[in-house]
This record gives sequence, structure tokens and C-alpha cells, in this order.
Amino acid sequence: MPPGPVLLLGGTGEARELARALEQVGESFESSLAGRVARPRLPVGEVRIGGFGGVDGLAAHLRERGVRAVVDATHPFAAGISSNAAAACAAVDVPLLRLERPGWRGRPDAAGWHWVGDHDEAASVAATLGGRPFLTVGRQSLDRFVGPLSEHASLVRVVDPPDLRLPLSWTVLLSRGPYDVESERELMSAHEVDVVVTKDSGGRHTEAKLDVAAERGVPVVVVSRPSPPVGVRVVDDVEQVILWIRQQDV
Ligand code: NAP
Repeated sequence: MPPGPVLLLGGTGEARELARALEQVGESFESSLAGRVARPRLPVGEVRIGGFGGVDGLAAHLRERGVRAVVDATHPFAAGISSNAAAACAAVDVPLLRLERPGWRGRPDAAGWHWVGDHDEAASVAATLGGRPFLTVGRQSLDRFVGPLSEHASLVRVVDPPDLRLPLSWTVLLSRGPYDVESERELMSAHEVDVVVTKDSGGRHTEAKLDVAAERGVPVVVVSRPSPPVGVRVVDDVEQVILWIRQQDV
């Protein structure tokens, strides 16, 4: 087993929680962020920022640093880096574990939502359900909504300003969660939101909009998660990651 650090692919609250836990138990680790947002929330410990340059670049990084294990704790919708991690770890024979928060499918109201396969379908379904959609799909997916919702009074909530021209009828709200039920209630009422569009990101930080949608009888359009890479073990809490890392150290 190479003596180097654990590589923690991050950009999520779970990854920051894992970094804190690894620091507490004295494991050496390096976190990696894509560098997508202007002011990222940084995890504790050593952090590198920016892409690796595809599978080959990631494999080279694993070799150069002597990485002894990789934990992919990236967002459930960051399918590109997860797939690259699976390929790179297989290529250089480094063990890989996926830490992924559970989605929202288990909620009692989830059966009544409009589940769709991708953002294009989300846009066309949302266009038929209301005139004042609340788009919480992230900045990178907004281009898919512009055409189908060009005449709608959409409310768009993003962390950083969108880098594309949006319809004049849209309102952009720059903000970063977590959000509580009270503030979501106020926002959705003030904008008279009549359909909520989201990805199945899961977690508590952005869940309150779903509680408020249920309360107000507002339809919800949810983009299903991409499938995780085949053959990669998935866990959903930090303790299981620590146990797994200890097993790799044996
Ligand atoms: P993606 O489509 O899966 O990845 C695209 C490319 O970005 C990857 O090929 C890689 O570039 C680079 N990259 C992604 N995550 C990286 C990481 N943790 N460290 C170093 N490079 C990384 O990813 P995405 O959907 O754009 O998400 C980017 C990051 O934002 C992820 O780390 C994710 O955890 C976080 N995030 C994403 C979402 C979302 O909805 N997608 C939401 C919240 C947070 P190279 O090929 O050059 O290595």
C-alpha cells in the first residue's frame, strides 16, 4: 500500500464533514475541489483546487502523490468526476469508495412528484405545470430551461451569477443554502411560485422548499440521479468511510 494520503473528492457538505472526521482521527488526506464556485466553502486540511485533466490526469496524480485510497464524496449529479475516479482508480489499482447522501425518493410526498430523466425533460414538464417556476437546478443546467421557459416568470436561485443571457421575465436570486421552511415559505409566497424544479440532490440543506411545496400544494418536478459507476461500493455516512479507510490500512 503506498504511504501517501487519502484523496477526498469533494465539493459537498458531506465531504467537509468527512474532512473534519479524518482530521480528528489523524488520517492524512488531501481534499480536491473542482473550482466551480467563486468562493468555495473550504474543508479543513490540505486542499487542491481545479480539474486533474481527465482520467489520465487523475491517475497520474494518484501515482505522483502515492494516494492510498480515494473517497468520492462529490455531488450526486457530478457524474463526470465519479466516472473518472472509477476509471483512474482501476487503472492504478487504488481502492475507491463512494460517499453519497440518500436522495429524496423516500419522502412521503415523493410519489406525487413529476420524476424526469434529465434537465430537458424537467424544462418541458415544468412549462406545462405553471407560469411561475422556481428553478433550483444549479447554474450549469440553466441553459436547458431558457427555451422552454422563455415566456415564464421563472425565479432562479444560484450561488454565482449565471454566465448566459436569461429571459427578461426571469428573476435571479444569488444565494447559498442552507434554507429553512420559514424563509422558503416567504420566498415562494412573494414570487407566487406555482411549480418547483429541482434535482434529487437529497440532504437537509435544500429540502425545505419541498416541505413548502407540499404545504402549498405546488407541483414538484425532480430530475432523477445519474447512476453511480458500476462496481463502486457506496456508503451514506462518514463513520462507514472511516471504517473502510482503516480496513485499507491493514
Ligand atoms: P462533473 O461534471 O462531474 O465534472 C466535470 C469535471 O470537473 C471533471 O471531469 C473534473 O475535471 C472536474 N471536477 C469535478 N469535481 C472535481 C473535484 N472534486 N476535484 C477536481 N476536479 C473536479 O462535475 P460538476 O457537476 O461540474 O461538479 C463540479 C463540482 O461541484 C463537484 O466536485 C461537485 O461535488 C460539486 N457540486 C456539484 C453540484 C452539481 O449539481 N453538479 C452541486 C453541488 C456541488 P478534470 O476532468 O479536468 O479532472
